[in-house]
Amino acid sequence: MLDASDLLNLVKNYNPKANEALILGAYDYACAMHEGQTRRSGEPYFSHPVAVAAILIEQRLDDATIITALLHDTIEDTKGTYGEIAARFTPRIAELVDGVTKLTNLELSNRESKQAENFRKLFMAMSKDMRVILVKLADRLHNMRTIRHSPHEQQVKKAHETMDIYAPLAGRMGMNWMREELEDIAFRVLNPEARDSIIRRFLTLQKATGDVVSKITYDIETVMEKYCIEGEVFGRAKKPFSIWRKMQEKKLAFSRLSDIYGFRVITRSEGDCYNVLGAIHQCWYAVPGRFKDYISQPKSNGYRSIHTTVSGRDGKRVEIQIRTRQMHDVAESGVAAHWSYRDGIRAGNPFAVDPAKWLTNLTERFETAGYHDEFLEHVKLEMYSDKVFCFTPKGDVVKLPKGATPLDFAYSIHTRIGYSCAGAKVDGLRVPLWTRLKNGQSVEIITAEGQTPQAAWIDVAVTGRAKAAIRRSLREEDRGHYIKLGQELARVAFAHVGKKATSKALDTVARIMGLKNGDEVLARIGSAEVSARGVISILYPELGGRDAAGVEAHRAVIGLTPGATTYRAQCCQAVPGERIVGIAYPGLGPMVHAIDCPTLADLDDEPDRWIDLHWTEGRHAPVHNVTINVTLSNDNGVLGRICTLIGEQNANISDLHFIDRKPDFYRLLIDVDVRDAKHLHAVMMAVEADSDVATMERYRALERRP
Ligand code: MN
Repeated sequence: MLDASDLLNLVKNYNPKANEALILGAYDYACAMHEGQTRRSGEPYFSHPVAVAAILIEQRLDDATIITALLHDTIEDTKGTYGEIAARFTPRIAELVDGVTKLTNLELSNRESKQAENFRKLFMAMSKDMRVILVKLADRLHNMRTIRHSPHEQQVKKAHETMDIYAPLAGRMGMNWMREELEDIAFRVLNPEARDSIIRRFLTLQKATGDVVSKITYDIETVMEKYCIEGEVFGRAKKPFSIWRKMQEKKLAFSRLSDIYGFRVITRSEGDCYNVLGAIHQCWYAVPGRFKDYISQPKSNGYRSIHTTVSGRDGKRVEIQIRTRQMHDVAESGVAAHWSYRDGIRAGNPFAVDPAKWLTNLTERFETAGYHDEFLEHVKLEMYSDKVFCFTPKGDVVKLPKGATPLDFAYSIHTRIGYSCAGAKVDGLRVPLWTRLKNGQSVEIITAEGQTPQAAWIDVAVTGRAKAAIRRSLREEDRGHYIKLGQELARVAFAHVGKKATSKALDTVARIMGLKNGDEVLARIGSAEVSARGVISILYPELGGRDAAGVEAHRAVIGLTPGATTYRAQCCQAVPGERIVGIAYPGLGPMVHAIDCPTLADLDDEPDRWIDLHWTEGRHAPVHNVTINVTLSNDNGVLGRICTLIGEQNANISDLHFIDRKPDFYRLLIDVDVRDAKHLHAVMMAVEADSDVATMERYRALERRP
């Protein structure tokens, strides 16, 4: 393990102006925090952050990146905190460490490989600063380099993740060396037989043909000398994994693969790149379709090079990349080149791409299309900053707009799951449905049979898809309820006049009213758009309004002149069992009021008109109409349930009026036919017991309701 001064010296080699105190401080702090922890290999845990820092030092990265590497596991694995790091170092460093911690936490659950692309996007979306990804990649690289200490199962899991996510991510960052090394280690874990067989074939080939790499290198050098161009030539056999991939992609046997060797010419100037190209093409045949000029058309990650394949010695294909030293640096370290230092100053590589520009450039090309193949696979960070990515319990990634709630999540998986959503767990904890989801959270939707969308959900959902689905189902649900309710209201009203609400009768009404069918009539009765009595008067004009008056049976109350007719006051709707009083009206029978009716206050100074009355057993009408005033939460099913509750008490609903309909509640007046006060009390108790009933009282108005 590097000690503090060795590490500092390595940094100072390329960056003499590095902040010594801060780097040493980070070294000591992380060392103290990881005190007592060990790795699987038995080494002190602290050797890991030091190794990660060393990887980034090789890339000549800036102080902040090196310090973040040293601290990268302190928030996750020790008692170190964001606040402490911000105070001891800088808030910026605390942010970077926090960013790495978030990515580490994401890694914990298993991911399916088909989700890899989304996962990579998530990584980028979560990393406001690309240095977070650089540290994370170095972290993964060191963990892969030491993976032999892990149990096999763990090795396989990590290797899959590396293949699916980290290696392509390194490639996207332009760090090809890292991509290759990650792939090679993962390949060794996942398919050791294939890797061994490729290596064996290389050895066999070498025996047969000699050291091809040095021969071809010599050939290229000779050509360059002939044309008086200065430069260095490097050759190498390709990595087993990239050969394996080519064999898979092209479905070729090893022996038929042409490009298993790669050569690179590093020149002193851009002009020399073209000179080398010209020289090589004059000496050997260029293979058609293999020439690419990434110098005049750089790749979006800043990569520049000339690629060509020629038919070289013995007709063997030789792949050659030609570039300058600066182009080479960018090709190897990619976006990281932006932060790299040389002799104490930012390397100032003219080809290093400013990450911000890199991204802008990406989107522009992304949007102008035409570049699909290459650019579709690239992602602009900001493009995803208005999105959140969450996981299903299976590890699938769900992309939602910022501000989305578990309800949106549910509907985005399947409308059926949305409809039956009864609750949600985020990262294992029950949360309200209106909770705003955050990047990387894992969301589990709790469904319940019989659960139906509620009107309030429209304000909870953010996505158009969820909102539309909720509206649609509310309309359908409402209609269903209204039809049911209408049926009940029609049945009672028709029975009242000795008729039956047959479907034939209702269809007739529909025709007269210009509606589609009988159900449409019922739906309107149920939603109180038309009254059941109105419908009866359409069908049977002669019966219309017969029972509209408050006429009650004779001699229902005593204390009257025999034969006198009483009228039941509609303001208080007294029922048997309640204390009552009569108020005399000249030329009309007395009006029966409940003793606590508010209208009586106006009659206080007319004691002559008060008649003492009380109910007689068995002599009054069998049912009495009473209005109750109910406030219900506006959930589907509640209205229907209330009607059922009333029915269960053997009371009929004779009419229903909505007085207020808000998104979250209804206020309505329900007319119920009851026998007496006891019966009414039972009905009211049953209704009030329902949890969705907010308030309920007997309707006592000074005037008859509108
Ligand atoms: Mn780590």
